[in-house]
Amino acid sequence: MDRSADPCTNFYQYACGGWIKKNPIPPDQARWEVYGKLQYENELFLWGILDEAAKPVAGRSAEQQKIGDYFQACMDESGIEKAGLSPLEPGLEAIARVSSADQLAELVAGEQLDGTSTLFGFGSNQDFEDSTRVIAFASAGGLGLPDRDYYVKDEPKMREMREKYVAHIARMLGLVGDNAETAAAEAQTVMNIETALAKASLTQVEKRDPYKQFHKVTLAQLKAMTPSFNWDQYLAITGAPGISTANVTEPEFYKELERELASQNLSNWKTYLRWHLVHSKAPYLSSKFVNENFAFYGKTLRGVDELQPRWKRCVHFVDRDLGEALGKVFVENTVAPAVKAKALEMTKQIEKAMGDEIKSLPWMGDETKQQALVKLRAVVNKIGYPEKWRDYGSVRIVRGDFLGNVDRAGIFETHRDLAKIGKPVDRTEWGMTPPTVDAYYNPQMNDINFPAGVLQPPLFDSKMDDAPNYGNTGSTIGHELTHGFDDEGRQFDAQGNLREWWTKNDAAEFEKRVSCISEQYAGYTVVDDIKINSKLTLGEDVADLGGTLLAYIAWKTATRGQQLKNADGLTPGQRFFVGLAQWACGSERDENKRVSAVTDPHSPPEYRINGVVVNLPEFAEAFSCKVGQPMMKKKDKVCRVW
Ligand SMILES: [Zn+2]
Repeated sequence: MDRSADPCTNFYQYACGGWIKKNPIPPDQARWEVYGKLQYENELFLWGILDEAAKPVAGRSAEQQKIGDYFQACMDESGIEKAGLSPLEPGLEAIARVSSADQLAELVAGEQLDGTSTLFGFGSNQDFEDSTRVIAFASAGGLGLPDRDYYVKDEPKMREMREKYVAHIARMLGLVGDNAETAAAEAQTVMNIETALAKASLTQVEKRDPYKQFHKVTLAQLKAMTPSFNWDQYLAITGAPGISTANVTEPEFYKELERELASQNLSNWKTYLRWHLVHSKAPYLSSKFVNENFAFYGKTLRGVDELQPRWKRCVHFVDRDLGEALGKVFVENTVAPAVKAKALEMTKQIEKAMGDEIKSLPWMGDETKQQALVKLRAVVNKIGYPEKWRDYGSVRIVRGDFLGNVDRAGIFETHRDLAKIGKPVDRTEWGMTPPTVDAYYNPQMNDINFPAGVLQPPLFDSKMDDAPNYGNTGSTIGHELTHGFDDEGRQFDAQGNLREWWTKNDAAEFEKRVSCISEQYAGYTVVDDIKINSKLTLGEDVADLGGTLLAYIAWKTATRGQQLKNADGLTPGQRFFVGLAQWACGSERDENKRVSAVTDPHSPPEYRINGVVVNLPEFAEAFSCKVGQPMMKKKDKVCRVW
């Protein structure tokens, strides 16, 4: 804490100033927060597990063999250096061999199959209008910059980033053997194609509207949309030959894709696919690829000074590719049953608080309230780790073959994902691995998910009392639960179907209340003259406010009748709010703030705290703040939804 700061002037500084001062951003990080630091501690622990598993001794389990040998292959820097470009050569040759435009789908499928992101996205998801069905989703994609805005915005920083991006593409193509002049022309070709795709892509704000992303078509209609693309060939290779329906999330994108397919010549496509191949595989190749990739995506784009040490990158890759095999070992060593039980108990209290809140909302009618309560009761709580672990048995992992392992793991994942189409939904599946320091709500599953990684000190501490735990982890639980009822989540019903279950009047009342939050956050500055895009952050801002309020009510209920004591010079109420703020302590490089302003649906951490407490009379009371002080709004300006 920074006790020299006045909590009623800048509460974030008061609660986090000490942490921020003692924890400067490490040279290999774009931002550094309590979450990131805890993630780092998890990674150190995972490193130990992987170092052990990498020893080729007899008696390793099948999982230890896989995670260990993958890690060994990744850590074998001298072997990777010696191999140079050779692991990429089969891919480059496959592109070079193509001599006719109807082989293009084959090439795209081949790249996407092992996880290379190119041209568009294709995977499985629950049908928006029938969450019991899994269908194919054909989405937008094919860009190398973080968002479509980077291609279309006419701002000096964006123009500068485009120029540097084109130079980076040219250098990467130079590394695979093209001379400087050719590579520069090729880079411009790539930029032209990506710009056309970007212009036809939805903005981040538009993507928050599920109706804008829901356009179910038959396979015949998909083919008619893009006649220049051989879908039969594509689907046969990626492993989804039997599909009859697909949700084309962005039809305008596919129309533009068709125009590009029809107008660009084959040689341009080969250039585009070569770029995406080398771009996607650069992190797994020799140092000149790794360094050039970092120079643009780390240093230029995000302002990071140093590449992460190799062990950290390798731990990250194992977590991404074999996450549940690694996670299984992680939870055996970390999750005490008591922690799981306590987290579940808090969740129940918070759900009860939400139920009581819904019942007493003055602006919502009975009809909508009944439906909201049905949805609340249907929320599934997933805490810690999956009930059944993913079976990686069919992934072949070989010592000394890093890129091969990455590719085979990518193929496994693509097949696993596409194999879900047409099968019943697996509601036990997790979208995050157990060591992950994060949490999420899934509107189609209607479930809240808290991986083991996030249920650890200093976030959740079983040795601490309820005040800081409810303030910190409780607010996170409340946040995820509120996502089911934010401006996006509220559009899905108890079964996870996209359906209007609100009366018109109640929906209008809701919109009125969330626009109060939207207006408030639009006034906050991210960096330079960039303000928060509060239409992008609205769902998170609503969840932050609602989540904190629910956690506060739940804490009061859980401790009713108890004799709560002061500690560290703070009252119990003050400790609740300091606990809240201290999940968010951290700082971020200016360059990364610019990326976040475009792509991150969360507001910057200080506003995630200060922007919440200004709306809570409970906070003003705890710190005796007065109207007119920055952390206390006038009564008629207070925003409240749930
Ligand atoms: Zn959230």
